[in-house]
Amino acid sequence: MQTKKWVFSFDELDMVNNAVGDDWDAVRELLGGKGANLAEMVRIGLPVPHGFTVSTEACNAYLKSGGTFPQGMWDQVLAALQTVESQTGKRFGGEEAPLLVSCRSGAKFSMPGMMDTVLNIGLNSQTVAAMIRLTDDARFVYDSYRRLIQMFGSVVMGIADEPFETVITAARRSAGVENDNELSADDWKKVADTFKAIYRRHTTHDFPEDPFKQLKMATEAVFKSWNGKRAVDYRNAAGIAHDLGTAVSVVTMVFGNMGDDCATGVAMTRHGSTGEPHLEGDYLTNAQGEDVVAGIRMTRDLSQLKEEMPDVYAEFERIAKLLEDHYREMQDMEFTIERGKLWMLQTRDGKRTAQAAVRIAVDMVEEGRIDRKTAVLRVNPEHVDFFLHPQFEPTAIAGGRLLARGLNVSPGAAVGQVAFDANMAEAWAKREGKQVIMVRPETKPDDVHGMLAAQGILTSRGGRTSHAALVARQFGKPAVVGASGLTIDLANRQMIVDSQTIHEGDWISIDGTAGNVYEGQLETMVPDIKDPWLIKLLSWADEFRTLGVWTNADYPRDARRALEYGAQGIGLCRSEHMFFETDRLPHFQKMIMADYPVERREALAALLPFQREDFAGLFRVMDGKPVIIRLIDPPLHEFLPDLVELVSELADLKIRLKHAPDMTTIDTLLADIRQKEQLRKRAQSLKEANPMLGLRGVRLGIYIPELTTMQVRAIFEAACMVVKEGIDVHPEVMIPLTSHVNELVRQRGVLEAEAKAVMAEQEVEIAYKFGTMIELPRAALTADQIAGAAEFFSFGTNDLTQTTFGISRDDAEAGFLIEYMETGILPSNPFATLDRDGVGQLIDMAVKKGRTTNPALECGICGEHGGEPQSIALCHELGLTYVSCSPFRVPIARLAAAHAALKAKSA
Ligand code: ADP
Ligand code: MG
Ligand code: MG
Repeated sequence: MQTKKWVFSFDELDMVNNAVGDDWDAVRELLGGKGANLAEMVRIGLPVPHGFTVSTEACNAYLKSGGTFPQGMWDQVLAALQTVESQTGKRFGGEEAPLLVSCRSGAKFSMPGMMDTVLNIGLNSQTVAAMIRLTDDARFVYDSYRRLIQMFGSVVMGIADEPFETVITAARRSAGVENDNELSADDWKKVADTFKAIYRRHTTHDFPEDPFKQLKMATEAVFKSWNGKRAVDYRNAAGIAHDLGTAVSVVTMVFGNMGDDCATGVAMTRHGSTGEPHLEGDYLTNAQGEDVVAGIRMTRDLSQLKEEMPDVYAEFERIAKLLEDHYREMQDMEFTIERGKLWMLQTRDGKRTAQAAVRIAVDMVEEGRIDRKTAVLRVNPEHVDFFLHPQFEPTAIAGGRLLARGLNVSPGAAVGQVAFDANMAEAWAKREGKQVIMVRPETKPDDVHGMLAAQGILTSRGGRTSHAALVARQFGKPAVVGASGLTIDLANRQMIVDSQTIHEGDWISIDGTAGNVYEGQLETMVPDIKDPWLIKLLSWADEFRTLGVWTNADYPRDARRALEYGAQGIGLCRSEHMFFETDRLPHFQKMIMADYPVERREALAALLPFQREDFAGLFRVMDGKPVIIRLIDPPLHEFLPDLVELVSELADLKIRLKHAPDMTTIDTLLADIRQKEQLRKRAQSLKEANPMLGLRGVRLGIYIPELTTMQVRAIFEAACMVVKEGIDVHPEVMIPLTSHVNELVRQRGVLEAEAKAVMAEQEVEIAYKFGTMIELPRAALTADQIAGAAEFFSFGTNDLTQTTFGISRDDAEAGFLIEYMETGILPSNPFATLDRDGVGQLIDMAVKKGRTTNPALECGICGEHGGEPQSIALCHELGLTYVSCSPFRVPIARLAAAHAALKAKSA
């Protein structure tokens, strides 16, 4: 029986490709991202040190067996190592020309928590001597040796860095030097010996001098690190499968620390925060591996390499361009220069800000690297949100001091003073007007008031579905959670990061988009929706989408903004919002209080001109685009003062009446009391046990037909007026909360008659529609009947979700709903993401049934879900005409609708 192939040399990629049917995703799954890209770079002829990759399958087999290498694996490693020996002319453990290698982990998705790389494997007393002979540089060799012992000790055996660092500090002191690179060969030799003693003390065995043993132990450690706690936590949080496993890449060492013609560095083919199309990076001369990112020495800007080593730089520039052409993606690369020769050690798709993501996608289309469809799909709809939230200035980030990293669970930048509990956060924010960041180990339902008052939220524990993350996203608060580098000491009102203490009241800045925490106050900016790259990308998105994007707007200013953002109509104008304004509310209250029809008619007549102006304003702005106006929806008590307050005010007034000094005071007080008493009586009589299910929506219109008739008159008078100004108008009158078709038939009859009367008076014909909201399960179930009396349906998914689940949103979101999500009873908040199985099914049924009666039925949604990408995808699937969302979500919805259309097509 042929044993399975577990190990693949970098030059065996063609074989892998054949085996998996040229599926790059499958290659990455087998070899890990790092291993797959190393092999791919070899395949296209780039200078990569020789090496091989042990597959993720080997890792999985090893873990499954409880810790033994699968049959044949180690033999294949030895064979691959021999191949490298013949390719390099060196020998592993050899005393002439010793081969040294690095042992690197790499899973399909790059993730933190995996084992760090061990460099310089293969060094021992004999090979050290050989290396010194070869390089004539004992300093370099002993430095490399002590690095191996230290890295192996900490990474493979889990010894803390501290004892090692203490030794180096002592060595520097006794040699009387400031920097590591001033230490001599002898110093490093002594350090290496002491390191071996530390190793022995901590592990109770000697540092393995046998190179094969070193490699074997390192390989096993990488495999085991797949199930390390940090890695498991990260996968849980990021939703990465636990059965992928990690690969191990073994790579011939190249040395950036052999002198001043050597260097090591990292670079991106484009700017990671702005997307500008030029190389960007850092490097260090005479340094190895991690030195660049470790921040021990000041790095140099890549542009300086151009002066320092012009030929190498030119070669690197050529390779960077080639890699971008090859992958058609911005690349993040690692390189090392050994004695003037460039080596590529890694390449992968570069991480970028939302702004850079948009610019890079558009630029790449214009450079002919990708097509528009790819560009549109490369930008996440939520990225577009970035352009509407404050972010940190890129320069501020560059100059900022990073305190800690955590999970980026809710986007946006926030700056504030640290408050360690919810009450403090609320008191500071509300009473003292301070900006605060609420910092807790984790949050619970009692903390919500503080979270709401804070600019942002930071926790040291928890993942993407923790309470803090869910609440933050819900309320659009920037948040970073699970920043495990923070030690929060609640008792002493302080937190400790890397031995630095942050006290309550100190300023910090958190970047919820990147998951970073900075010291002090970083400068923020609101990125520009007029960004030319974004405008272009969205215009391409419009070419692909079939779903309309409308907006919810009550006022002309909202409508204007939405139009600027690309809205194609108004899907919801809440006509009652205007009644709350100070010049209208008294009339509206009079209307409610009226004892006689004539009083009511007077109050309504006073409101009519206001409403007419409101609607005319919207029609003018929308210039012929459809405008859906919903007739009054909320229960009337919402327009009266709060009953409890009224009662206490009355009690107050009566006490003052008792102590009134003179007749005039008594008269005014009495008048006041009489008026408040009337209000109280009416409020009392309007009080309902369940206002959400009470006298509201279409029921209100049936109960007080004069009210909705006035609204319809206002709509049609406004429409006629605007038409006479030469502007096209398409009003759509929407009747809320229908549950039985008879309600609709009755209301519509009255209202349409009024509309016709206005058009006759004005001698203008308006193209109008009448329709209803579908926000009760009964309406969805009987949609075929209802569609007989409606030209359009608009799904009010907020109410439809409430009534389908039987959950009151306001009560639930501040209470048990969070727990439902934390414990996984609900996969997500149904008020944020449309519930596909329940509410989605009702919508599906209503659309289908409605269209059987009325094939031209226009269907859309106007709940908050209309601006949420996953819900938008569902609306596309269900064949809706449009989604309607808040003006700020319009750009996101345009892109999400394009994604939905493109993905549906390719599926
Ligand atoms: P990470 O995933 O943490 O970046 P890497 O495996 O990429 O870990 O390696 C860590 C550092 O060591 C990087 O700077 C890398 O370039 C360097 N490195 C890895 N292998 C070699 C090698 N064979 N020769 C020289 N440097 C190496
Ligand atoms: Mg790397
Ligand atoms: Mg509703």
